[in-house]
Amino acid sequence: MNAPVPHEPAVRTTCPYCGVGCGLIAQPDGRGGAAIVGDPTHPANFGRTCSKGSALGETLGLAGRLLHPMLRQGDGTLTQVAWPDAIDKVAEGLSRVIDRDGPDAVAFYLSGQLLTEDYYVANKLMKGFLGSANVDTNSRLCMASSVAGHRRAFGSDTVPGTYADLDEADLIVLVGSNAAWCHPVLFQRMMRNKAERGARVVVIDPRRTVTAEEADLFLPIAPGTDTALFCGLLVDLAERGAIDTAYVDANTTGFAAALARAREIAPDKAATARATGLDEDAVAHFFDLFYATARVVTCFSQGVNQSAQGTDKVNAIINCHLASGRIGRPGMGPFSLTGQPNAMGGREVGGLANQLAAHMGFTAAEIDRVRRFWNAPRMATREGRKAVAMFEAIERGEIKALWVMATNPAVSLPRAGAVRAALDKLELFIVSENVRSNDTVNAGAHVLLPAAAWGEKDGAVTNSERRISRQRAFLPPPGEARPDWWIVSQVARRMGFTEAFDYRTAADVFREHAALSAFENDGARDFDLGALAQISDAAYDTLAPVQWPLRAGEPALETRFFADGGFFTEDRKARFIAPEPPALRDATSADFPFRLNTGRIRDQWHTMTRTGSSTRLAAHLPEPFVEVHPQDADAAGLTDGGLAQVATPHGACVLKVVVSDGQQRGSLFVPIHWSSETASCARVGDLVAPHTDPYSGQPEAKATPAAVAPVALPLRGFTRTHRAIALPEGTWWARVAISGGVEYRLATGQGPMVWHDFAYRVLAGDARLVEQLDRGVYRAAAFVDGELDACLCVGPADAPLTWDAAGLQGADAADGEPLTARISSDQIGATAPVICACFGVAVDTVRQAVAAGTARNVADIGRTLRAGTNCGSCLPELKRLISHERVTHPS
Ligand code: SF4
Repeated sequence: MNAPVPHEPAVRTTCPYCGVGCGLIAQPDGRGGAAIVGDPTHPANFGRTCSKGSALGETLGLAGRLLHPMLRQGDGTLTQVAWPDAIDKVAEGLSRVIDRDGPDAVAFYLSGQLLTEDYYVANKLMKGFLGSANVDTNSRLCMASSVAGHRRAFGSDTVPGTYADLDEADLIVLVGSNAAWCHPVLFQRMMRNKAERGARVVVIDPRRTVTAEEADLFLPIAPGTDTALFCGLLVDLAERGAIDTAYVDANTTGFAAALARAREIAPDKAATARATGLDEDAVAHFFDLFYATARVVTCFSQGVNQSAQGTDKVNAIINCHLASGRIGRPGMGPFSLTGQPNAMGGREVGGLANQLAAHMGFTAAEIDRVRRFWNAPRMATREGRKAVAMFEAIERGEIKALWVMATNPAVSLPRAGAVRAALDKLELFIVSENVRSNDTVNAGAHVLLPAAAWGEKDGAVTNSERRISRQRAFLPPPGEARPDWWIVSQVARRMGFTEAFDYRTAADVFREHAALSAFENDGARDFDLGALAQISDAAYDTLAPVQWPLRAGEPALETRFFADGGFFTEDRKARFIAPEPPALRDATSADFPFRLNTGRIRDQWHTMTRTGSSTRLAAHLPEPFVEVHPQDADAAGLTDGGLAQVATPHGACVLKVVVSDGQQRGSLFVPIHWSSETASCARVGDLVAPHTDPYSGQPEAKATPAAVAPVALPLRGFTRTHRAIALPEGTWWARVAISGGVEYRLATGQGPMVWHDFAYRVLAGDARLVEQLDRGVYRAAAFVDGELDACLCVGPADAPLTWDAAGLQGADAADGEPLTARISSDQIGATAPVICACFGVAVDTVRQAVAAGTARNVADIGRTLRAGTNCGSCLPELKRLISHERVTHPS
């Protein structure tokens, strides 16, 4: 949507958000900013972007950036130091802990936001030179169950299919995936297939999401019961004689045991319906569709993975595709939709504690192979601690030094409150970051290392379809920020490993990574980039998106795996897995009668450190919320738009109530994005139980028993300033980016005197303060040189919480000085919710158009308001809103 400006050469790069991996073109403006558009030549998106991608140009500012290495002093303050001093501090600290307590007393916690080169160097240092495999990543919270399921079934972490399968499928099954919001460009691709080729779409999800509203068949499954549904499907395929016996016999083992287990769990449609809470006719309809359609792709995402039985769920899905031979051919196969931009790259290098490197594990032969390749002096010889276990070991004092790179575990891990407390026990706590303040940094990091951000760094990422794309720098790194691979290499060299970490460029690292993937491979491993092992710097710079495998001496082909078998087990056969019956770990109780489901929203990413700076994105869903079924809301005394406390045995949040019949009775949904930087009490990680899957170690983030109760704060309001501020103790607030500053939406039980005091102490400073108290509504505005600098409005929830220019001038009349505030023609009020982030179209504007009869459908809205005509991310919500308004205002 931002038109490129011809100042500097445009740069082809890749989006830093989700696993779709869209190609982008960045056009720098010469002033530190850039216009961002979709790359029409990139095969992941063909020029399309979603709302997040199209707003990237708004997120390039340097506000809040960490620009220099910092060390925490004894009094808790942070002091800027030179890079060599920071590197010394890290290297000496790691060496001291290892010498005294052994290598397993140190750990790295990495991120799917890192580039492959960053990941490779960190993994190599820890596993080959420090001697521990305590390297894990926030990808553990995202798709570890898919990795484990792939490895159990295929012998390798292989995604068999490609995005082209989504164009060629006749049936697309989405399990535990709100793709319309979480993988928007891919979802629009599926919708095009539906519109143009008539593909049918089935959505299986406990929530009726906007994705579900686009489905031909929606199955509102009971939480945690996906395994039963796919066991029922396997039995049904067997009963109908739809097993591809030739494929099964030639290419797999374990079918009989898996089918027998499936018959125990879900012997028929009626039993499947009982086990899943679904209507039997709906179950039969799904089974009929799968049976009758050759080209089926089953996409699964966090709703499957984030489970203490996530690996079994993945294998129950894969079982059905193996049994019916629907794998590796056009338009068919199981398809893991990866959450993060480079979770796949992290898997490739071995950036998980239970992988060694380059899709190799911890067999003696693999350890020896990697040792020889790296010429490593101190190889890790067994798996390390996975994320949840890693932080539990920190809590027990067993891990004494931790290096966190590009992630925010103090927000995102289960029992996040306990994680923050545990971080305080560390002897050495290092954080490589873009921002100077976040919950993890503020948990007492001893060393802060300024990392280059998206747009400033160079490297590779791999998307959900195994496609490697380049992220390229188009801005200079600010201050002393450096790429992560450089920072880790400097520490390694300071620890004495100069030769092994003598990288000059990201291309040096990439070549070594590619060479390791091909080292003694000979087709025995799926992951092979041998064709890129000798890539020149110039060719690396211009590398076009490519899919692996890329074996040396073979042409680069867009390859699917397993149509003819060839799995990566010892006997080259796939394994059917007999899953355990579905069972949630913690039962609900009288104290905690609900199931808490967590997830993402359309326009925010992770803990908002980038997306939170875009005013367009902020206006979509600006406050943290809990979604509740209407009957549950009634029973609990909750009102739509009110506040509620959501509590679990692990913690509590206070959130805005959204009453929605898309929510199942007995379930609550809460988004994951807010932190202590952006809200007073909305860190959802605090609520989540630490139960993990026995194979993947992925925590259960979708079914923690929870309670919900109303919170009475009678006054509402907002304050706008140019900078982050502290609100009076006891205030509920959520921070929202606005043009030139921030807006705090607030709720409070404290009356005008407290806010009068706050206005003078915090907002006024040297500014001239204008105040008004009118029918219980307190308003204050601070002016500097006649320009509005800050404002505040607090009053009863049913009062008009705005302040127009006339009111302001009236309040100031006694002063006599003219005010030339920029607000002179505007009403000041809390930011209106926006439905189309690309064109800033407010929800109310769409409502008014429908009520006035000027728009009856999405096409009318597009023509008159432009909403939905750029990225299309808002189309499902537009449809929902229009249909709701047409019921309310029939014409
Ligand atoms: S779908 Fe959106 S967030 Fe995901 S890669 Fe594409 S532009 Fe980025």
